[in-house]
Amino acid sequence: MPDNDNGKRSFSRKVKRELYRIEPGEMCCVRSRFKGLVLFGAASVTKNEIRLVSDNPDVVGCFVELSRLLGIEAEVKQSGGGKYSAVARDSVKIAQLLYDLKLLDEAGEILMRAGEIKKMCCKREFLRGAFMGAGAVSDPNKNYALEISAPSRELCGDVARLFDDLGFKLQITARKKKYVAYVKNSEVIEDILALLGACTSQMELINIKIEKEIRNDANRGANGETSNLSRTINASVDQIKAIYQIRDTVGLDALPDDLREIARLRLEHKDLSLTELGRRLNPPLTKSGVNHRLKKIMKLVK
Ligand SMILES: [Zn+2]
Repeated sequence: MPDNDNGKRSFSRKVKRELYRIEPGEMCCVRSRFKGLVLFGAASVTKNEIRLVSDNPDVVGCFVELSRLLGIEAEVKQSGGGKYSAVARDSVKIAQLLYDLKLLDEAGEILMRAGEIKKMCCKREFLRGAFMGAGAVSDPNKNYALEISAPSRELCGDVARLFDDLGFKLQITARKKKYVAYVKNSEVIEDILALLGACTSQMELINIKIEKEIRNDANRGANGETSNLSRTINASVDQIKAIYQIRDTVGLDALPDDLREIARLRLEHKDLSLTELGRRLNPPLTKSGVNHRLKKIMKLVK
């Protein structure tokens, strides 16, 4: 199971901190993010009060700010055990807001469902809010898992369907008294983090994965000479991180021919020494030539 927010330095917290800093933009998106947060994160919802309890100040802050953007002041209190409770209370405005969000029907019943969300911008914002409210992602040093838990199977299905609309397949399972939409494929998790806008966390996950891969490859490929090998690998990890950063921002095609050639080769052969890389170039290049080009690449990202 992924870390929850209890760990103050958990990966989930880092992701939520990043999401908290993203401005919601258009009013449609403010509403949609608020709706996702309330459906998945609120401790209770009534016609005149929405209450959210969390030990993560970013989640509470998100609720307070969105409420304010929607014209309602939420009050925050410390509620013991390191938790905070935020309460938005207003007998007129809350009912109107819930009605506008389709969380309250004409008969005065609260509906805890996502309903139809048409615009792409709002689907994404809804998922951001839902993740803030009840999402978790594992520390990639341990394993890969991202999930959002929901109080009902229907609501869990709603979030899975929205992910599906945006191209992501999540599984659903029941756990204790909750329903959980989850994914364990690291590439899908990377893409979901990017979708949500947690790009620093996405890069961190990618980097950790690369390091793990390189270490595994190298451990498989060689025994002995451990200190030499780990030096080669550490250098290689830094080079590969720089190359990935270029690939994922401007693209490798933006590099001059000589640098692009060595960048591609480095990605293909993560565990080779510089001398061996140089031999594979056409025409071959000396170790210091290879080193010179890789240093240029590393300089580009700084
Ligand atoms: Zn929108």
